[in-house]
This record gives sequence, structure tokens and C-alpha cells, in this order.
Amino acid sequence: MRITASEFIISNTDVSNCPNERIPEYAFIGRSNVGKSSLINSICDRKNLAKTSGRPGKTQLINHFKINKSWYLVDLPGYGYARTSKTSKKAFQKLITTYFEKRKQLVSAFVLIDIRHDPQPIDLEFMEWLGTHYIPFSIIFTKADKEKPMAIKRKTETYIQKMLDHAWEEAPPHFITSSLHRTGREELLAYITKLNEEFINLDQLPSVDV
Ligand code: GDP
Repeated sequence: MRITASEFIISNTDVSNCPNERIPEYAFIGRSNVGKSSLINSICDRKNLAKTSGRPGKTQLINHFKINKSWYLVDLPGYGYARTSKTSKKAFQKLITTYFEKRKQLVSAFVLIDIRHDPQPIDLEFMEWLGTHYIPFSIIFTKADKEKPMAIKRKTETYIQKMLDHAWEEAPPHFITSSLHRTGREELLAYITKLNEEFINLDQLPSVDV
């Protein structure tokens, strides 16, 4: 997919104010500092569409970006920032759970994981929560330029194996990316293209009266 248009549409603290169109939507989420803004900018071919974090954990907004006038890329707030107060952690949880419960047009979430780190409970628990709520997701490993190819292979395999050993019967799709080198961008966009087509085909099925 070639990105020909990417525009910021709206920021929300309230899920009920998010755009109400029937177009496919993809949510990007991960721990603060995982490289989410950089990845979104790299996907959209823009320097500053998503702000790279000066102050991680500060704003808890749902940001909608419309891509190629045909799908939404959603930038969800980062989680797990150590200095967040209990009150804002609760607010974050409420915002995120409501988002995933309410957004019927969500096709898939993308959970970002910094490839350098060992599996962290906060990420594993979050993915388990997605699983128990039947929300499809993929993993995006970020900052691959910081590791050598052998380490990338070992770390991603270990990560997926850990998931399989614990809660999962099947490995989720996963992508290896570097925003710095634009690694994995084409694969990710090809995957979104495929899901967009499936969404459109589903939408065109005649409704059945029962
Ligand atoms: P966010 O808090 O998840 O939005 O993360 P940012 O996109 O703001 O990135 C956090 C830090 O990681 C910044 O210093 C980025 O320059 C750096 N970073 C993000 N992506 C990459 C990457 O692909 N490679 C490298 N080497 N650094 C990255």
C-alpha cells in the first residue's frame, strides 16, 4: 500500500466522541517509550503526525488519523509509565477498556513491544486481556535496528514461545520493525491492506433476515 494521504482527525478523552464511520480501524498501543509515535510517523511517511514523546505518560488521548481516506489508524495512550499516579492509571484503564469494548469498527490492535526487552508482565497481561475479550491483535516488535539479526530471531522466538507456554494456543501474527530504517513497514501495510479488503467484503454481504 502506498500512503497518499494521512490526516489527523480528532483527539478524544471520551470514546463516545470518536468518529462514527464504518471504515476499518487499527489501534496502536504499547508501553510509554516503546517507539509508537515514531512508528506511526514512519508508517504515514510524516515527520510529526504523531508527536514523539517529550513527556511520556502525560496525555491520555485517543488520536484518530485517517489514512488514504479509507481507514483509521488510532494512536492509543502508552501504558506502564512508572511515575503515573494511581488515579491516572485507573482513568487509563477505563479509557482503554471502553475503547476496546465500544469500537465495533476495530479490525485489529497492534501491541508494540521493544525488541530489546524480556517479556514484561504488563504486556503479557494486556494481551491476555485482549484475548479473553476476543479482540484480534498482532505484535509489533520495535527498534530492531538496535539488535543483530541473530538476536532478533532468538528474542522474538523466545517471546512467542513464552506466550505459547502460558495462555495461548496459537501465536499471534508478529512484525519486526525499525522506524529508523523503515524495516517491516511494507509487511505491516500489506497486512493492513489484506484486512481492509476482508472488512470491505464482509461489509458487502447481504444482511440476512432471521
Ligand atoms: P512512544 O512514547 O512510544 O511514542 O515512543 P517514541 O516514538 O517517542 O520513541 C521513544 C524513543 O525511542 C525516542 O527517543 C525515539 O527516538 C526512539 N525510537 C523510536 N523508534 C526507534 C527505532 O526504530 N530505532 C531506534 N534506534 N530508536 C527508536
